[in-house]
Amino acid sequence: MQAGHPKREAARARADARGALIAAALMAAITIGAFGLLAATSHAETESLRLRLDDASPTKLFGASGGVYRRWTLDDVAPRERQSITWNGKRDGHQVPNGEYFFRVRDDGGRKADRAHSKGDRRFGVFDHRFPVRGRHTYGDGVGAGRGHMGQDVFARCGTKLRAARGGRVQWVDNQRGGAGHYLVIDGRGTRLDYVYMHLKGRAPLREGERVKTGERIGRVGRSGNATGCHLHFELWSAPGWFDGGHHLRSVTRKLRKWDSWS
Ligand SMILES: [Zn+2]
Repeated sequence: MQAGHPKREAARARADARGALIAAALMAAITIGAFGLLAATSHAETESLRLRLDDASPTKLFGASGGVYRRWTLDDVAPRERQSITWNGKRDGHQVPNGEYFFRVRDDGGRKADRAHSKGDRRFGVFDHRFPVRGRHTYGDGVGAGRGHMGQDVFARCGTKLRAARGGRVQWVDNQRGGAGHYLVIDGRGTRLDYVYMHLKGRAPLREGERVKTGERIGRVGRSGNATGCHLHFELWSAPGWFDGGHHLRSVTRKLRKWDSWS
């Protein structure tokens, strides 16, 4: 921007976005910060976007998410002052559908403050689940295959990153030699389901009781325990939980394929 010629209509904006995935309660935050608009990280439970206007001094900013889903109006916006907007991922009290969303920011005159001086991507994803295997994969045995198989196997190279299909609280992190190997059980937030991951490559980098966000890294695909080939053995259990009065869901395969379709 040229010194001495502050373009009034060109609210030089800079944004900075960070995201984390959520599941049930999506939080989206826009903070108005400096230089171009930066993109929100995708698929996060909490999205944060920072933006600050360097020059001009619109007294109002209009932000929108998903174009039509939510609008905010900020009054008395001063240059170089950070603003923030928070979104709970709902519209009219209902969770918005899974998909990609984006933020739009306009100044007082209706100009697109984020169009003229933006860099990066302001889009982010809103998803209630993510597919856990982050790489090429194929489906193996499902529920009922062989003797008492209670989950779905997903084959991928050993070392392929795993992320939480659903956030929640880590219930168990343990190693069962000759069985599940390194495994992890997450009490899925707002779902009343337990999410079980087995045969990890080494211990999951999490502690029991810890909170995990949907999409957060939870370890790597391995072949620990009684596993033939590198794969994730994944189970879903109904309340009250995994080997705690609940039962495994046969719908696990269908759900995985659904999440796979948008992840
Ligand atoms: Zn299996």
